[in-house]
Amino acid sequence: MPAFAELHAALEQLKREHLYRTRHVSEGPQGPEIDVDGRRLLSFCSNDYLGLANHPEVIRALQHGAEHYGVGSGAAHLVSGHSAAHHALEEELAVFVQRPRALLFSTGYMANLGVMAALLRRGGAVFEDRLNHASLIDAGVLSGARLLRYTHADAPALEARLAQSAVKQKLVASDGVFSMDGDLAPVPTLAASSARHDAWLMIDDAHGLGVLGRNGGGVLEHFGLGMAEVPILMGTLGKAFGSFGAFVAGSDELIETLIQRARSYIYTTATPPALAEATRAALRLVQSEGWRRERLSDLVARFRAGAAQLGLLLAESITPIQPLIVGDAARAVQLSQALNEHGILISAIRPPTVPEGTARLRITFSAVHSEAQVDRLLEALDEVIRGSGPQSPLSMEEGT
Ligand SMILES: *Cc1c(COP(=O)(O)O)cnc(C)c1O
Repeated sequence: MPAFAELHAALEQLKREHLYRTRHVSEGPQGPEIDVDGRRLLSFCSNDYLGLANHPEVIRALQHGAEHYGVGSGAAHLVSGHSAAHHALEEELAVFVQRPRALLFSTGYMANLGVMAALLRRGGAVFEDRLNHASLIDAGVLSGARLLRYTHADAPALEARLAQSAVKQKLVASDGVFSMDGDLAPVPTLAASSARHDAWLMIDDAHGLGVLGRNGGGVLEHFGLGMAEVPILMGTLGKAFGSFGAFVAGSDELIETLIQRARSYIYTTATPPALAEATRAALRLVQSEGWRRERLSDLVARFRAGAAQLGLLLAESITPIQPLIVGDAARAVQLSQALNEHGILISAIRPPTVPEGTARLRITFSAVHSEAQVDRLLEALDEVIRGSGPQSPLSMEEGT
């Protein structure tokens, strides 16, 4: 079995490089504290930013949905799987993001593949931020168009790339909030460049929707931009919405094109209608409970102030994604394990998810964390980082 021997050697290699990934088994719902591998841990690594994944109203909506629709949707949307629940959710999402139409996809990954497959052809070009989510990168590769990557969050670099391109069909795609860094894309300048060069602009706001903007309208509400500047908006439902799935919102023509041509929409079973009912309940909470966003930004501010006092170097971020960049993969794993011994769950994010030499602890917050829990995290970080020696890249000189 030579093939297995090869796989075995490659797996061993990953272990030696501290890049081997393992899964934690959780035994209960998402929340500030979760039961993992038989222990109760304080969790700072979920994307359930508003604390809706285990909300009683969302659970009840899922239960009622199942009683009404059963479990399986039975078919793809274009066959017989498109239910009144899906349809209502699409209409409500469109209103929420102030666009004529929205279209549900099973996952964000599939939404990104679908958009690029539908809009790009061989001979076209897609321009992507270097730190874009893997699904956007894969979507660009699979579209058959030429993939050009520009320096992270660097609008002039995009402008230069667009100016050099003689291609007619162009699409610019960027995360709205970068998933592993928590910083925002310079969407207003990306939009200006895209308009100047007649390129589509697509923003994947997986981590901004529900979180940023007074009404949770995401990075576009934060910057005060609409469909004229950003014709293609993608949002996911498995993060701040605490549910599952994704959608694309835009003009009637865009949505009809996706229905006709997006292969990841057409050739897959519709998600369970009950799930759409759960997401509708979550959407109502996202809109009506603005206190969740305020609470979240208070907790983030508390964490950043505490971290500054401890001399921890945090990346520039106003979002609930607050990475501590460690550099070395082995060190990130070691810190994650030390935190685990202190009862705190934060996973080490390593290449290829992030660039070589930028392994990190990706710390995330949720509106349902308490202030005391944030303080406990700060204490634990202080202990594990200080306890791991003066050569630590994270501890700065006192007073700086
Ligand atoms: C999570 C994420 C996705 C994928 O969404 P899923 O619904 O989990 O498949 C896409 N883009 C970004 C930026 C994400 O963070």
